[in-house]
Amino acid sequence: MAMEIDLLITPEWIITVDSGNQVLRHHTIAIDNSRIVAIMPTSEAEKHYNPRQAVALPQQAVLPGFVNAHTHVAMALLKGLADDLPLMDWLQHHIWPAEAQWADAEFVHDGSQLAIAEMLRSGTTCFNDMYFFPEATAQAVAASGIRACIGMIMIDFPTRWGSGAADYFQKGLALHEQLQANPLLTTAFAPHAPYTVSDDPLQQVRHLAGEHALPIHMHVHETAFEVQQAIEQSGMRPLARLAQLGLLDQHFLAVHMTQLTDDEIALLAQTGTHVIHCPESNLKLASGFCPIAKLTAAGVNVALGTDGNASNNDLDMFGEMRTAALLAKAVAQDASVIPAAQVLRMATINGARALGLDAEIGSLEVGKFADMIAVDLGTLEASPLYDPVSHLVYCTSREQVTHAWVAGKVLLENRQLTTLDSTAIIAKARHWQQKIGATP
Ligand SMILES: [Zn+2]
Repeated sequence: MAMEIDLLITPEWIITVDSGNQVLRHHTIAIDNSRIVAIMPTSEAEKHYNPRQAVALPQQAVLPGFVNAHTHVAMALLKGLADDLPLMDWLQHHIWPAEAQWADAEFVHDGSQLAIAEMLRSGTTCFNDMYFFPEATAQAVAASGIRACIGMIMIDFPTRWGSGAADYFQKGLALHEQLQANPLLTTAFAPHAPYTVSDDPLQQVRHLAGEHALPIHMHVHETAFEVQQAIEQSGMRPLARLAQLGLLDQHFLAVHMTQLTDDEIALLAQTGTHVIHCPESNLKLASGFCPIAKLTAAGVNVALGTDGNASNNDLDMFGEMRTAALLAKAVAQDASVIPAAQVLRMATINGARALGLDAEIGSLEVGKFADMIAVDLGTLEASPLYDPVSHLVYCTSREQVTHAWVAGKVLLENRQLTTLDSTAIIAKARHWQQKIGATP
């Protein structure tokens, strides 16, 4: 007798992103109780299972949802506010003043909701965030059904969210406790950057991260200026300082890393440190180039992130994959590096691995959560099609994402959000635009 389960999905292609990068045709994914229970030939699946819902996607490829490994989602409300400036000018004269004036819990909630809607419509099902008022982001995440790792931000100076290190630790840990009950939410320590967090709080982060077995998410070596300034002030490069503080290991996510010596690449490989590559943010702010071909060759786990909307300016992992692949070839002066299948891994399983979630998400395999997306490859733009993975990286746009599921629950269905109200989200974004745009 056929077994009753929640859902059967039969697409044209299943892009598993498993260890062998298998691409399957004439196969069906069986989902029950949030997880993938089988991937088998369609004819067998139809005999074995009696699903409560069956979805046929004859033009689509189904693949793991993207893991956006570095975001500041609340900054969605600052999208396009200040462009065409170098990092420090942009931060000090535009972003930090706007945040000081506007970034309260309501701003963070509304910005997070806008970004989550954009991400679901672009195929992202999990993101790793760092921002103030993380409890407001967590609330928007929980209401939407997307998956996220919420950063407990740490910075030396007072902000609207807290008075200093002790206050940030207290608020962050309280949130960590509160989120334990939600299986879609995890937490990480998120010290902002080497130039904004001093040794004492960093040592405390190391101690607490070890105690709670949590990742540490930090901007490191974003620009040459950052490295130069650290050398002038302390005689040390920031990465060497972090190594001396004992922070570099398989729980540490170093974001950007545009300045790397060969010795530093060896250190990252040896310690198991993850690198989060944000190519579009680095290009837009002229921050530098992260040598991902060298890092990958050395065995470093490299994942992809968009960074915030204010420096990208979209949260589009298709764009990020393509830019990462093209830029890697230019930087290495070698067209063979970072092929399409590799960059797809960076956007999915490598991000899951950096967050310590690779046993649960990041590929389509039996036992993992059904965090998946469907992409229409039956379009004129996708024809002819010799290799779906090539198309996903080199000629697909996010408008081709038709469905997104997190833990087996559909959050995007035929491009319609099922848990979020697009009209209300647009209205709120325009309301903030009027307030922020009117600032002299
Ligand atoms: Zn960032």
